[in-house]
Amino acid sequence: MHVDRQQRAVALLAERDLDALLFFTRENLRHLCGFTGSDGVLLLTAAAAVFLTDSRYTTQAGSEVTAARVEEYRLQGDGVIAALRDAGVRRIGFESSLSYGKVSDLRAKGESGWEWLPLGEELDGLRLVKSAEEVAAMDAAAALNAEAFAEVEPLIRPGAVERDLALALEFAMKRRGAEEKAFDFIVASGPRGALPHGVAADRRLAAGELVTIDFGCRVDGYHSDETVTVALGDVDSELRQVFDTVLTAHDLALAAVMPGVPLAELDRIARDHIAAAGYGAFFGHGLGHGVGLAIHEAPTVSMRSKSAVREGMVFTIEPGVYLPGRGGVRIEDTVVATASGARVLTRIPKQFRNLLA
Ligand code: ZN
Ligand code: ZN
Repeated sequence: MHVDRQQRAVALLAERDLDALLFFTRENLRHLCGFTGSDGVLLLTAAAAVFLTDSRYTTQAGSEVTAARVEEYRLQGDGVIAALRDAGVRRIGFESSLSYGKVSDLRAKGESGWEWLPLGEELDGLRLVKSAEEVAAMDAAAALNAEAFAEVEPLIRPGAVERDLALALEFAMKRRGAEEKAFDFIVASGPRGALPHGVAADRRLAAGELVTIDFGCRVDGYHSDETVTVALGDVDSELRQVFDTVLTAHDLALAAVMPGVPLAELDRIARDHIAAAGYGAFFGHGLGHGVGLAIHEAPTVSMRSKSAVREGMVFTIEPGVYLPGRGGVRIEDTVVATASGARVLTRIPKQFRNLLA
């Protein structure tokens, strides 16, 4: 499995006229060679894959990593430069997310004739289409979302503190085997619902409000991502109308998922519906994003997307409307594109629900 993935990456060498590729990010290390630790570098050339790490991880790398050799460094920069010299390379591609400090250090330590080329979108294809095993891990992560939400739902009541609900969800998922929470959970109640990224705060929920909860976890390195908006009693009629608008936008986009359909078209379908209802100005973000080893990864699902749905892509559909000072609604599912359309991995019901009914 890792050998296949490395071969796909090695194919980029010829395409981009490179002699070597360097990978530093945890997600790409895990994907390309199986390493699950926090510090390591993978050097790929046409001749070999070499994994470099520090002494804390040498033993772990020996059992986890698929590579021709594992080498140990004391200082990462020195180790990388020595390995590049051994490989006799000149044009070196690296992840564009690498920090400016690290790039400067490598340039300073390397040969003056070496060329350093940052790669961004060129690398997106490596993790774009998920295997059955990868989808199974995300399905398991999504199942934990549903179980945790069912456990915590009775606590989502007037008087509850947003932060306590976030903590309860995290605890419920970890107790069921989640490795980690996927991000800082959003629990945004009442007027805070107008903040698309309203991380759980000290606010207490009140009757008559909507509560938006955006959460997820990680299983075998892969993430779940899901947003539920629920009502506590009767909510103002306009917010209820906003809810129905967002839900329909979500349902329309979900139904349109099919291999070959432009990702930008999915965004347009949802956006047109929201705009027709008069709320176009209040849906400020893209429709969704890819999910996998990273919580946000390729493909982007927005007006700017240039690619089309491919079988095996996993991404979110998460339209939202945010009315400043009043509240907001976001509804998010994570789906995998199959030959016959979207299979929804996240399972919590998305229809309007009044938890006090
Ligand atoms: Zn989310
Ligand atoms: Zn999301």
